Amino acid sequence: MEAIAPGLQGLRIAFVNVFSVSHQDGSWTLIDAGLPFSEKLIRNWAEKNFRTAPKAIVLTHGHFDHVSAARSLAEEWDVPIYAHSLEFPYLTGKQEYPAPNPGAGGGLMSALSPIYPRGPVDLGNRLRAIPLRDGSPAFAELPEWQVLHTPGHTPGHVSFFRPQDRALLVGDAFCTTKPESFFEAALAQPPELHGPPAYFTWDWSLAGKSVEQLAKLDPNVVAPGHGKPLSGADLPDALKKLAAHFGEIAVPDNKKRARAVSESR
Ligand SMILES: [Zn+2]
Ligand SMILES: [Zn+2]
Repeated sequence: MEAIAPGLQGLRIAFVNVFSVSHQDGSWTLIDAGLPFSEKLIRNWAEKNFRTAPKAIVLTHGHFDHVSAARSLAEEWDVPIYAHSLEFPYLTGKQEYPAPNPGAGGGLMSALSPIYPRGPVDLGNRLRAIPLRDGSPAFAELPEWQVLHTPGHTPGHVSFFRPQDRALLVGDAFCTTKPESFFEAALAQPPELHGPPAYFTWDWSLAGKSVEQLAKLDPNVVAPGHGKPLSGADLPDALKKLAAHFGEIAVPDNKKRARAVSESR
């Protein structure tokens, strides 16, 4: 992945993305920290692009595919790790995420989901809470960005929006690849919008509201945790369509029901 927007770069590791956000003073912040054993890839990429360690590692949420290299990188760089406080039980070794739903959405990712690590991850004393004042750029680690609490996929899921150029980092609030089939879809994949990864999503009604909230921002560029970054004139409408039809497009039980109805005809 090359530059996605000014000062925003992405690195794809297998089926998940991490991002770097540069700031005006030359410092930068790492968004998400990838799969187990991806420390080296992230470190090499960071060294290639930056002369210094980041200010911080900021997590969109605590799932294993977004946090696994966080602790060792934070130790090495001597930086804090930020997440929404509602993710803390899953990041302090206290609690596991609910068991994934392997039947959700089909595909290899779903079938394999029972073997994914669900935590509890322990980020120790590196962990800090993201200060949340919705809509205002109050977070010193991402000075030009708004922090948006976008719960649903997980309780403390957050997204980041830069009003200046309408760039939007969405974590797993939604995907630009069919989220249950990352491996099968890795080769050629027409860019389209999908819901959050179904096998791990915690509250579908909140997830739908969060997509609605993000659609209202009319983003110019979307950088997701899974799939390719998207931009273009069609993007705001495509996102509004996903929000309006979230039930049929994203929610597994509804999708199954819709399929059953169409097959019975
Ligand atoms: Zn996730
Ligand atoms: Zn994910």
